[in-house]
Amino acid sequence: MTLSPNYNDQRDWTIVQISDTHLMDQDDLEFVHMNPEQSFHAVMQQIQQQYPHIDAIVHTGDLAQVPVQETYARYLAFMQHFGTPFYQIPGNHDNIDHFPFYQNQNQVHAIHFGKWSIVLLNSAVRGKVDGWIEQEQLQQLDQILSKFQQQFVIVACHHHPFDMKSKWIDQHKLKNTENLTDLLAKYHNVKAVICGHVHQDSLNEWRNIQFFSTPSTCVQFKPLSDDFALDEEAPGFRVLHLQANGELKTKIYRAENVQQKINNEISGY
Ligand SMILES: [Zn+2]
Repeated sequence: MTLSPNYNDQRDWTIVQISDTHLMDQDDLEFVHMNPEQSFHAVMQQIQQQYPHIDAIVHTGDLAQVPVQETYARYLAFMQHFGTPFYQIPGNHDNIDHFPFYQNQNQVHAIHFGKWSIVLLNSAVRGKVDGWIEQEQLQQLDQILSKFQQQFVIVACHHHPFDMKSKWIDQHKLKNTENLTDLLAKYHNVKAVICGHVHQDSLNEWRNIQFFSTPSTCVQFKPLSDDFALDEEAPGFRVLHLQANGELKTKIYRAENVQQKINNEISGY
């Protein structure tokens, strides 16, 4: 689904970011003692109740924990039925052979909402947990930023560009952050970079650009932990209010109706 761009549209837009659904190949299976299908659906239900008129949903990766065709088909069927335009970028757990890209994996995709544009990057590298944005994509991002200098821009990728001060997570961050930030520094219209991967909410500010991470729709990772640890926070999502004057307002919501039984014995995922 694509929206036809109307750059002069002066209205405000509401976009929801979801991330790290980690869906299994069957909907009754658990992932780290939580059923990711149920928590994903609970989050989506809450989005619908709280924000019945959102303009789009952006999923920042790790759609699948079991990255086979059935998992993606179930995700797509659910999202199509949900009825809001939706977009997704792959995470390290996704299989790019089955991933529902809009174009090929190194094709940067820009979606436009009036005065705002969201640019979708693929930072997932086959066979690796950490991230890298290919030169080919950086060049396309450069062209997009140069072409749309009158637009306010949000860049989305799966991996976190800046340290979370959590040793195990930071091993798996975006490894060529400098290539990205060097490019972003050339322009004045990039308002935010959004990512997933870290299963927690965070904000880093760098040269007037806000870097946000967003909770997973299933299990959460404990902030500031050197070793793998789960957090008792509920699954969540991020709402982004894009205002025609370039102001960005954002808020995290947590699911109110998800059963959790965090098992602290778990040492990885
Ligand atoms: Zn994840």
